[in-house]
Amino acid sequence: MAELSPVLQQATPVLAARGQGVYLYDEDERRYLDFTAGIGVTSTGHCHPRVVEAAQRQVGTLIHGQYTTVMHRPLLQLTERLGDVLPAGLDRMFYVNSGSEAVEASVRLARQATGRQTIVAFQGGFHGRTMGAGALTTSGVKVRAGIGPMMPGVAFTPFPETYRHGWSEAEAVRFALAELDQLLLTVTSPKDTAAFIVEPVLGEGGYIPAPAAFLEGLRERADRHGILLIADEVQTGVGRTGKFWGHQHSAITPDILITAKGLASGFPISGIAASSALMSKAWPGSQGGTYGGNAVAAAAALATLDVVRDENLVDNAAEQGARLQEGLRKVAAEHPVIGEVRGRGLMVGNEFTTPEGTPDGATAARAHAAAAERGLLLLTCGPAGNVVRMIPPLIVDSQQVDDAVGLWSEAV
Ligand code: PLP
Repeated sequence: MAELSPVLQQATPVLAARGQGVYLYDEDERRYLDFTAGIGVTSTGHCHPRVVEAAQRQVGTLIHGQYTTVMHRPLLQLTERLGDVLPAGLDRMFYVNSGSEAVEASVRLARQATGRQTIVAFQGGFHGRTMGAGALTTSGVKVRAGIGPMMPGVAFTPFPETYRHGWSEAEAVRFALAELDQLLLTVTSPKDTAAFIVEPVLGEGGYIPAPAAFLEGLRERADRHGILLIADEVQTGVGRTGKFWGHQHSAITPDILITAKGLASGFPISGIAASSALMSKAWPGSQGGTYGGNAVAAAAALATLDVVRDENLVDNAAEQGARLQEGLRKVAAEHPVIGEVRGRGLMVGNEFTTPEGTPDGATAARAHAAAAERGLLLLTCGPAGNVVRMIPPLIVDSQQVDDAVGLWSEAV
């Protein structure tokens, strides 16, 4: 008899038997309001009928057609359909299976295209757990400690944070860009720097939205020095923040856009988008993976994009996200242990802080557990696990948002 590895530390004791819409059910049919969405994956809710139907149809037709051997229609259709939502100029797609692999694909492409090595990443960023993506990750010691050496050629610089320093947005942006300029002078020359990789909302690092002026400052420096700008939209993409892509809260267009998680409502598929000029710098054979662009996952992704469009889920994310933040701010006003409520669209965090102003992971953990006991599933993130985050499916309605706020209020 075998058992699961203890490395799997489950955040709740729930044994999920089935999912429908915004709800998960355990084996006793106890219902949970799922404000985790499988860590931001089940964008159209659990088992959306159109996604189920598309996947079932594809399973009976062609499960796997390896894309370096044969091409298949679902991947071509998905690519064509992504053309409707990708920023102008980013018209070439390449597919793998997970966020981490797509991050690695973006690093490979950036290094191939520029002939430079250094990737500049931001402190508190999360880009995955593989040895390359993990090398770019600094949110939480657990991804790296005792595991290195990781991929070399990475330099870190601060992400703009207002709450932690008590700064205005302008002050935080000025500081972060000045630090980046200093890094480019002293640590890595621009001539050695292939790319900046940034999350439009710092995710695992604490749900901190990047100010538009910060992304615009990165874009300006990237253009000035011939450095590529990679937007890691693994968590922020496909409508999550109330725009189709998280970077669209600013005026920039990235050179490489990474998408995963919400793209296929739970099926593993991820990809990078870039211009054809940039993509043509990658040589055949240097990118890929056996399962990349799986036909069933591609069909599910295509159905997901249709549902997002037909059910106006991007607008719903903006509307329900605003409602959620408003409700949570009322809860925070009554409970000073929550120092800040912040986020974009349906990517919202509640930061727990001690009276001395230090991150309060212990109270956040208790509130998280108390919410689960009441039937509300949430996640934690942030430097000390002190941010309780809410990332429901994009189909969530006003009643479900109000129910979640009510349960959260009781839990806190
Ligand atoms: N990038 C970001 C911004 C993420 O949030 C994550 C996962 O949470 C990843 C990359 C890694 O994705 P995956 O876990 O699918 O490898």
